[in-house]
Amino acid sequence: MPEKTDVLIIGAGPVGMLTALTLAQSGASVRVLEREGHIIDSPRAAVYFPSTLLVLEELGILDELNAIGFQNSSFGTHVPEFGYSSVVTTEPVEGIDYDYQLHVGQHEVARVAMEHAQKLGVEVLFGHEVHGFEEYDDRILAMASGPDGEQTFEAKWLVGCDGARSTVRKLAGIEFEGHTWPERFIATNVKFPFKELGYSQANFVCDPVNMAVIAQLDTDGLWRCTYMEDSALPIESYEERVHQRYEWFMQGRKDYEIVSANPYTLHQRAAETLRKGRVLLAGDAAHATNPCGGLGLTSGLWTGIVLADVLGAVIKGEEDETILDRFSDERRRIFWDVVSPAATENKRMLQEQDMDQRKKDLEHLRALETNPESGALLMLFAYKVIGDVLREGSRWADADPTDRVTSINIKDRKGQIH
Ligand SMILES: Cc1cc2nc3c(=O)[nH]c(=O)nc-3n(C[C@H](O)[C@H](O)[C@H](O)COP(=O)(O)OP(=O)(O)OC[C@H]3O[C@@H](n4cnc5c(N)ncnc54)[C@H](O)[C@@H]3O)c2cc1C
Repeated sequence: MPEKTDVLIIGAGPVGMLTALTLAQSGASVRVLEREGHIIDSPRAAVYFPSTLLVLEELGILDELNAIGFQNSSFGTHVPEFGYSSVVTTEPVEGIDYDYQLHVGQHEVARVAMEHAQKLGVEVLFGHEVHGFEEYDDRILAMASGPDGEQTFEAKWLVGCDGARSTVRKLAGIEFEGHTWPERFIATNVKFPFKELGYSQANFVCDPVNMAVIAQLDTDGLWRCTYMEDSALPIESYEERVHQRYEWFMQGRKDYEIVSANPYTLHQRAAETLRKGRVLLAGDAAHATNPCGGLGLTSGLWTGIVLADVLGAVIKGEEDETILDRFSDERRRIFWDVVSPAATENKRMLQEQDMDQRKKDLEHLRALETNPESGALLMLFAYKVIGDVLREGSRWADADPTDRVTSINIKDRKGQIH
């Protein structure tokens, strides 16, 4: 590994590792620094739509992930107060390569991407926490504390993939514009036979008090049950409250085994710019959304993929650096015009407080149930996170199929459900 690399990525989460792999495949030298001693495996993203599957396939890791996870093509919506439950299923659509969603933990995606990146010479250093950088005309120096004390790493470009609380973003003095929601999410992994209670492999439970997103995680009985609680409640005691909430979702049954539970702060925020000099941002460091509908990693990953493509071209001298500013503008547009409104609408419907609106939502859900295109529209909405890939010669130039698909209109779709 050379002392100086083309790119230094901070954060070995799924976006950091997929960005590293994409850059390495374009011939760039890449080093990744990760604060933790291993890839974080707390319960987070688990569902991957076709717009992500095409990335995983193009990068050569889809088969491996398909073997670890499982394929789902049904989505349940439940409104217990009205005794309503429906299931929409995804059918194959001409022009679309995938008719399923992949369920697999994001730590597995990061691990598999890392292993492939390492084979291409990417160096991943765990236990290295970045706490400062110095920028010059032609290079950038990042300071990190690690197992051997203080170290300095030199690169041409620094990419912050270090999550919503990004140190890189803060050190660069970049604002994280938007708002933080008053509620917190509790994401739990639990062993429980949800199917016996009528749940599908992925579900929205709409309720003004007890909303939830419930999804199957593996074929050995592990499920994700994520719900909201008021962030005014003391965070120290969230684990005690899990049992009360399970009472409702498991309909009084006690034969569950909690595997893990984690509280999360929810944001609708994007960095005011994704490029400042030699510093770039991707993933949650660039933009963070509430996870209702699974658009967080879906969009963050595409930000990393487009960045890797344009930055790889800049490194090879094929593109002018100004393309990095256009990357910033386009990814911010995708977040504020596509991702954030859709995720916000999902969250609203899941926890709607107004009875009249809940009745309207129910009518809408009933109409979806009888529309044969509903499953496909729900799944294919995520193609909208691809946006403009900015280069004619881009590896991703043909990734968005929406112009080619005539049988179904994805373009006018405003959200996954609405
Ligand atoms: C409950 C929940 C459920 C979700 N479900 C979904 C879903 O189904 N689908 C979906 O698309 N999205 C989902 N998301 C969102 C998804 O988890 C995030 O978008 C995703 O984790 C972002 O990945 P990332 O690589 O950008 O950042 P992260 O996964 O946060 O990784 C950042 C990495 O940077 C490291 N790091 C931080 N600071 C430093 C430093 N100073 N030096 C070195 N390393 C550092 C961290 O240790 C970490 O490993 C969910 C989120 C939550 C909260």
